[in-house]
Amino acid sequence: MREAGRIVALAHEAVRQAVRPGISTARIDAIVEETIRSHGAVPSFKGYGGFPASACTSVNEEIIHGIPAKTKRLKEGDILKVDIGAEYKGYHGDSAWTYPVGDIPEETRKLLDVTREALFEGLRHAVSGNRLQDISHAVQTHVEKHGFSVVRDFVGHGIGKRLHEAPEVPNFGEAGKGPVLKAGMTLAIEPMVNAGTHETTVLADGWTAVTADSSLSAHYEHTVLITEEGYDLLTVLEGGDRHG
Ligand code: MG
Ligand code: MG
Repeated sequence: MREAGRIVALAHEAVRQAVRPGISTARIDAIVEETIRSHGAVPSFKGYGGFPASACTSVNEEIIHGIPAKTKRLKEGDILKVDIGAEYKGYHGDSAWTYPVGDIPEETRKLLDVTREALFEGLRHAVSGNRLQDISHAVQTHVEKHGFSVVRDFVGHGIGKRLHEAPEVPNFGEAGKGPVLKAGMTLAIEPMVNAGTHETTVLADGWTAVTADSSLSAHYEHTVLITEEGYDLLTVLEGGDRHG
């Protein structure tokens, strides 16, 4: 899983260097697929439930599951969420990141900062002996303190030999509830945060989830290993601690 995670992180690094005004989301997808396959892994998302691409590319009010397209070109001021999964020797890694395209407005920057901070606020509670919803509660508290909303319709998840495993990891809820965290568990923790309402709808393509009020949405995700002392980030480069 550490190697699967490292390959996902390499794909993100390639995306980070490629994102700029004018590039298409299909090109981003091609970069992701090429990076994953060149390291002997397989894109987890391609064909998953019929998904047609290797990366989910979601722009602005699109929350998750955006389908890459040649005709979809990024513009200055957009935000692009890229969600990447890789399977290596039967194990998966899963990580999403939000990339600013050129200069973005201050208010958009704040949404990105708060969402990324919320992931790491949640992770502070990802330690053996805690309850799963201690993570959820910390994420929700940080987001709402800044006046943003947490998506309810999509949640994080266990991960390992399958991309999505039990338990679900919601980004909202009461602390002290849910399964007890144990060393050796591997979870994908992934706050999705909207500038407006938390409500969502799915576009006619059957995949792309968007905010119901067309407000902006941000998404950050890491696959982590629970340890006795805390958490270990798996979707990072060697010795990396990718805070953004
Ligand atoms: Mg993901
Ligand atoms: Mg995930």
